[in-house]
Amino acid sequence: MGEKVKICEVGPRDGLQMAASIMPTAVKIEWIASLVEAGIHEIEVGSFVPPKLIPQMADTAEVVRASRAMHGLTVAALVPNLKGAQRAHESGADVIIVPVSVSEGHSRANTNKGSLDQVAELRGIVDWVRAQERPMKVDAGCATAFGCSIEGHVPQERVVMVAAALAEAGVDNVVLADTVGYGNPMQVRATVRAVRQEIGPVLDRLHLHDTMGLGLANALAGLEEGIRCFDSALAGLGGCPFAPGASGNIVTEDLVFMLESMGFATGVDLDGLIRAREVLQRGLPGAALLGNVTKAGIPRTYRRAA
Ligand code: ZN
Repeated sequence: MGEKVKICEVGPRDGLQMAASIMPTAVKIEWIASLVEAGIHEIEVGSFVPPKLIPQMADTAEVVRASRAMHGLTVAALVPNLKGAQRAHESGADVIIVPVSVSEGHSRANTNKGSLDQVAELRGIVDWVRAQERPMKVDAGCATAFGCSIEGHVPQERVVMVAAALAEAGVDNVVLADTVGYGNPMQVRATVRAVRQEIGPVLDRLHLHDTMGLGLANALAGLEEGIRCFDSALAGLGGCPFAPGASGNIVTEDLVFMLESMGFATGVDLDGLIRAREVLQRGLPGAALLGNVTKAGIPRTYRRAA
């Protein structure tokens, strides 16, 4: 039996927020269903942010409600503040992800608050969620943990400090995010190790972008440090509207290929992902879809992990 690795698809959130056009809600829901069909069990389906800022996410409540009906799917949504968390809870999300930037400059651009003020916001969110009758998981994303296009270098000690503050606030899990994709494998290895020394397995996930072409190498470094959960986006969509220079997430298809080839069971079917790309393309006719597996075709040597 291969060891299991969980893939969390973030295309409908991270991918679409930077798209030039707005994907119609019905296609978005069909796309999410096609991802579930391919074996993806957790999807970040949108974000509860003001539609004025990110119009692509205006239909998130409706998308969450439709996604809840999909069998076996954990429905996640990104929320920057308490109001967003309340809307996510009301729509029935299973998980919320609250971003807290390690870089002060990105934090102000992304949430209009300094890092520590955003930690305080997060604490309020955790307290509110825990007081509700219906449980909802609260994860926190340490954004710009490996570098920032606004501030440049992000010191590792600061990442550890912010991650410790998030764990202290009582979140279920912490995600380290390479928001702009400046990280390298040795840095990922050292940072994961340092953060785990501080907060242990509460750090359970990496969110990587492929700006410099090091996304999969960084994922491998995390895997070797014991991380068993990764965010990725179908066709490598993605980017952050408040972090200039960020490009797409690591490509779900290529990540699945790497993991399954190495004997890690993801439960995801590559042919199913390729079919999901067709729905994505229909919803975003002009968008360039990335991915080596699709470009080259699935090799005859490919075997899924047992
Ligand atoms: Zn991202």
